[in-house]
Amino acid sequence: MHRHFKFLLTFILLGFTLYPTSSFAKEEVTEEEIIQQRMSYYVQFDELLIPWHFLAAIDQYERNLQSVRKDIPKRDGFLSIQFSDEYWSGALNPAKEDTKPETISYFGGMGLDGNNDGIASPKDDEDVIFSMASYLAKYGTTDEDFKLALWEYYGSEEAVNQIFTISTLYRHYKTIELDAHTFPLNTRSDYSYRGTWGANRGWGGRRIHEGTDIFANYGTSVVSTSYGVVEVKGWNQFGGWRIGIRDNHNSYHYYAHLGSYHKDIEVGTIVEPGTVLGYVGSSGYGKEGTSGKFPPHLHYGIYKFNGRTEWAFDPYPSLLQWERQAKSKKQ
Ligand SMILES: [Zn+2]
Repeated sequence: MHRHFKFLLTFILLGFTLYPTSSFAKEEVTEEEIIQQRMSYYVQFDELLIPWHFLAAIDQYERNLQSVRKDIPKRDGFLSIQFSDEYWSGALNPAKEDTKPETISYFGGMGLDGNNDGIASPKDDEDVIFSMASYLAKYGTTDEDFKLALWEYYGSEEAVNQIFTISTLYRHYKTIELDAHTFPLNTRSDYSYRGTWGANRGWGGRRIHEGTDIFANYGTSVVSTSYGVVEVKGWNQFGGWRIGIRDNHNSYHYYAHLGSYHKDIEVGTIVEPGTVLGYVGSSGYGKEGTSGKFPPHLHYGIYKFNGRTEWAFDPYPSLLQWERQAKSKKQ
């Protein structure tokens, strides 16, 4: 608990005050201020023993969904947590958009008044974060309690897994600023790649090619492009020795055809941009250990979970950007 109180103290000492949500205007607020403001919402429930990273992870998960789903409106405010009318007001409440705490409570809704203004509004950041913290508090404060609360709320194992991963990263790094990325190979090593999205390749079988092939010499180090947790490690008939990493943006990064793994990488290992995962090889397309059926290369793919399904998207534009950034840093 010490760490959390330290956070709380830091914020008090820095004299943070809550901006009223109504005067929120994104143009006038810097990214740094947005992050500080969000943190101030997350840390205030430490006395309820709800770790800040639980609330921060749910908020980030919903922000991720809103950035890729056209059928979910983007919430206006510092926070992205959005309740359905049914959850907020209570399923049988005749007032679908009820903001009266008494009737919401009567109909079993989750909506609460977090700032004592007599109104429980899903448009108010303070009401929203207080309602979510109170929901989590009903289940308890351990990781297992958190997972159960998420399961009951989202009804999806993937959602639980994704949110728990974000929470793990926030707890480990003690910050929500985990947006840095890098190129998967050292930009000083010999390599070549081009946009091959959807190409029907010789070693891609009949499936559409979901990713980018980066050709390089055997043994070239492969590094993580993002912050994340290792979710998958081992042999796959097509991918050979591969690694799958889940990040804080609902994305799953897939590194395939490795020659070998770095000794420290196991399922559950926390990685960051630049952490060595393994080494370029030509494994795959056969039974375990098959190698040399194609030139050595890293196959890199990104899959995004949108709350319903996981879909592949073209990593090529991101690779170009990360390569540029990595090269300019080295100059
Ligand atoms: Zn490939």
